Amino acid sequence: MNNKYKILLVEDEANIRNLVSAMLDSAGYQVLLAGTCATAKVLYGSHRPDLIILDLGLPDRDGRVLLEYVRQEAATPVIVLSARSDERDKVEALDMGANDYITKPFGSAELLARVRSALRSSHQTMSQEYLPGGKFRTGDLLIDYDARRVFRGESEIHLTQTEYNIVAMLSRHCGKVLTYTAIIKEIWGYPDEGSTKKLQVNMANIRKKLGVRPGENHYIVNELGVGYRMCSDDDHS
Ligand code: CA
Repeated sequence: MNNKYKILLVEDEANIRNLVSAMLDSAGYQVLLAGTCATAKVLYGSHRPDLIILDLGLPDRDGRVLLEYVRQEAATPVIVLSARSDERDKVEALDMGANDYITKPFGSAELLARVRSALRSSHQTMSQEYLPGGKFRTGDLLIDYDARRVFRGESEIHLTQTEYNIVAMLSRHCGKVLTYTAIIKEIWGYPDEGSTKKLQVNMANIRKKLGVRPGENHYIVNELGVGYRMCSDDDHS
């Protein structure tokens, strides 16, 4: 019996592949390696990994081809590896269903935190954040979905309907980055000229009401130029 999580690492640059593989291995994960989209498809089919770490720039096909292939049949969490210059590709991959991304170069602690978070979000029903009775908790933040109320510790946070809808949406995808576009579509329907600004204003108010000081990433992380992510319990250090 092997109860280790299986991670498929798809990356064509050997030095990055070896480095990431060593990081995952030392954290106790079982790692499968692929350097092309074709090999990755074969390994995905035969091993059904618990998580995929995917470089988008592969020699045979674009990494998004693999993402599309996997998403046709499974919700397997996918973390995209990208260079800083691939900003648009990264956002597109998130909108195609990738769970998270990590920008090269990155350290072991950052990578492992993203891996834990993605694995947890894929086991949402077992996750400690979702409490019986339609409630959600992370740190001292509590959301009561049925009553549409939010608390921090003992005190209730008074949010507008829109602010509540944003917080609730982020919490339902806890650990996953939601792009600006994805949030705007869900909250306001179709995006218009002012919608990113509208989202930023709402988010600033939410953070103020939650008592988060500017620059602090508590509960909701702003992934600059990409979107927002609610942190899970494990990310509060
Ligand atoms: Ca590459």
